[in-house]
Amino acid sequence: ATPISIMVATGRAAGLGIVFRRGDALQRLRNARVVAFDKTGTLTLGRPALSDVLPLAGLDHAGLLTAVASVQSASEHPIAHALLEAARAQGHTLAAVEQFAALTGAGVQGRVAGHDWLLGNEALMRSRDIPVEPAVAARIRSLAAQGKTVFLAARGGRLAGVLAVADTLRPSAREAIDRLHALGLKTALITGDHEATAHAVARELGIDIVHAQTLPEHKAALLRDLRRETGMLAFVGDGINDAPALATADVGIAIGQGTDVAIESADVVLMNEDLNSVARAIALSRLTLRNIG
Ligand code: ADP
Ligand code: MG
Repeated sequence: ATPISIMVATGRAAGLGIVFRRGDALQRLRNARVVAFDKTGTLTLGRPALSDVLPLAGLDHAGLLTAVASVQSASEHPIAHALLEAARAQGHTLAAVEQFAALTGAGVQGRVAGHDWLLGNEALMRSRDIPVEPAVAARIRSLAAQGKTVFLAARGGRLAGVLAVADTLRPSAREAIDRLHALGLKTALITGDHEATAHAVARELGIDIVHAQTLPEHKAALLRDLRRETGMLAFVGDGINDAPALATADVGIAIGQGTDVAIESADVVLMNEDLNSVARAIALSRLTLRNIG
């Protein structure tokens, strides 16, 4: 391909809302064998809503929701937004949170009304020696099998509730995966979420490879392993927790409304947030570069 044909192709892509930030990304995209996706905010809209509240240890619904939302008021995670919205909608007044800390990829902690709260996944509870009974673990699995994101709440070192939020798949997700398969590529899902949640979403979309419960700092290493197994790899993410993965992939593709750091780490930006653009970009790269080995 000549420099001119590459210019024509990237110009055409821009017209479709696909911005190539680096010229060689078009060449690398042509050789991609697998496209890996982040889940939250990428395959899903990233605006989950509270779906389940199961109080334990003698708490009631309002008491649990109010305390959990109060802790979450200091967090920027999409889960936190869901809790704040639900507490507001149900008319609860939030309390002040002290000693707040975000535990990236695992949860949050904070002190509310004289109690220490820990919110997050099962692994986080185990790491703090908070027992998760088999009945609770079964409850988590059944909520996660519905594709929901589940987290646990502990008060004073004792489990006090199970909560879940439900996110909506991006309207373009299903077709986008089909189109990649039609082009002969494999698809993968990489998420920090629970195995059962990840598998439910992957099954719904027809995704081939699933890696769940991946800590943000391990996403890049996991991509390097996947690349060794499957060949040239593109990664699609929204930049929340996954900027290193965007930078590590052979081609990092960021969803347009993502963070500035996502755009800085990406080779390609999808301005229109249409996941079908991934297959369109690959098709365009093949068309443009079909004459070279
Ligand atoms: P993803 O890879 O899907 O973006 P994260 O790495 O952000 O997921 O989070 C992984 C898991 O950690 C979540 O599924 C949840 O169980 C737990 N978690 C993270 N942040 C919070 C929070 N603010 N409140 C409760 N749980 C959280
Ligand atoms: Mg995300």
